[in-house]
Amino acid sequence: MMIIMHPGAPKAQVEAVIAEIENQKLSSHLIEGVEQTIIGAVGDGHYVAKEIFEALPGVLSVQRISQPYKLASRQFHEQDSIFELDGFSVGSTEIPIIAGPCSVESRAQILEIAQAVKEGGANALRGGIFKPRTSPYAFQGLGEEGLEYMVEARDRTGLPIVVEVMAVSQIKMMEKYVDVFQLGARNMQNFNLLRAIGETRTPVLFKRGMSATIEEMLMASEYIISGGNTRVMLCERGIRTFETATRNTTDINAIPVLKKLTHLPVIIDPSHSTGDSAYVSAVAKAGIAAGADGIIVEVHQNPAHAISDGRQSLTPEAFAKMVKQVKAVAEAVDRCLVSPLTIRED
Ligand code: PEP
Ligand code: MN
Repeated sequence: MMIIMHPGAPKAQVEAVIAEIENQKLSSHLIEGVEQTIIGAVGDGHYVAKEIFEALPGVLSVQRISQPYKLASRQFHEQDSIFELDGFSVGSTEIPIIAGPCSVESRAQILEIAQAVKEGGANALRGGIFKPRTSPYAFQGLGEEGLEYMVEARDRTGLPIVVEVMAVSQIKMMEKYVDVFQLGARNMQNFNLLRAIGETRTPVLFKRGMSATIEEMLMASEYIISGGNTRVMLCERGIRTFETATRNTTDINAIPVLKKLTHLPVIIDPSHSTGDSAYVSAVAKAGIAAGADGIIVEVHQNPAHAISDGRQSLTPEAFAKMVKQVKAVAEAVDRCLVSPLTIRED
C-alpha cells in the first residue's frame, strides 16, 4: 500500500501514519519528495483496510500496489531511481561502464588491466575473487588476497570496485572494501544471501538468474530492498534457451520491460550474455539502444590465457573501440557516457 500525504503535511502526521503501519505489523518505507511525502506500507497487508489510513490526518490518498513486488515497482516509485557512486551516477542520463577481468588472477594482472580499462573509458573496475565455477576443480578465485589487489587497483586508478559476494559469511570481510556487491546469476534466489545483503548499505549489481523470469528477478530484488538497501541495479546477463550458438541468449526485451515495471537502473552484461568476444560489442550497443543505464563487460590483457571466461573477454583495444561506438549509440538515444570531468583523478 502507498500512503500519499497532503503536500506540506507536518512531521507529526507522517509519524502517526508510520506508527499505524507498524501497529498493523507492516514495514514502513518513507519517500520524501520535494513536494510530497509517500509512505510505503509493505508486508502481508491484503487484509488491512485502506480506510484505516485514509482516516488519519494529513493523508491525501491510499493506493494498493497491484504488482507482487512492491518497493521495486514503478507504482511505488514513479521516477527513475538515481544513485551516486564514486565519480558517476547510475540511472540518470549518463551511462557508466564497469569493466575488468572475470577473475582477479594476480596482483600484476589486476593492476595492469585496471589501468588499461581506465584509459579505455571505464568508470568502475570489476573483478571476481570468489568464482562460481561449474566444476569444483576449476579455479575458485583468490579470495581475500584478491580483494587486497582490487583495493590496490582502486587506490591507483580511482575506479570504484565491483566484486561478487557468494556467501553470507563473506559479507563482513568484503563490505568494508567493496564499492558495489555483485550478486551472481547462480545466487539470484539464494534468499538468505539476499536478506543479508539487504542488511548492508553497499550498492548491489543484481544479476538475473539464468532461468529466472523477469517477475522472479524483481521479486528476488525485493528481498534486498525490503531490508533497507535500496541501491540495487538490475543486470540482464542472458538466459538459457534452446539456442546453442551463443553461451546464453540476451533477453534484449528485458531491458524495456524492466524499465517499464521498475524504477531501478538496468545494466547490460554483453559478456555472459553471449560468451564470445566477437559478439560483445554488438550486444553492448544493442543494450544501450534498448534503454540500459550501464554496461558491465569483461576485459583481459591476454584473453587466450585468462583463467576464466577468456573466450568472452575483450582485449583493452577492443574495449576502447567498443566504448567509442557505445558513445555514439548513447547519444542517439539522448544519453551520454560519464563526463571525464566527473571521473576522480587520484
Ligand atoms: C561474472 O560476472 O563473472 C559471473 C560469474 O557472472 P554471472 O553470475 O552472470 O554468471
Ligand atoms: Mn565471468
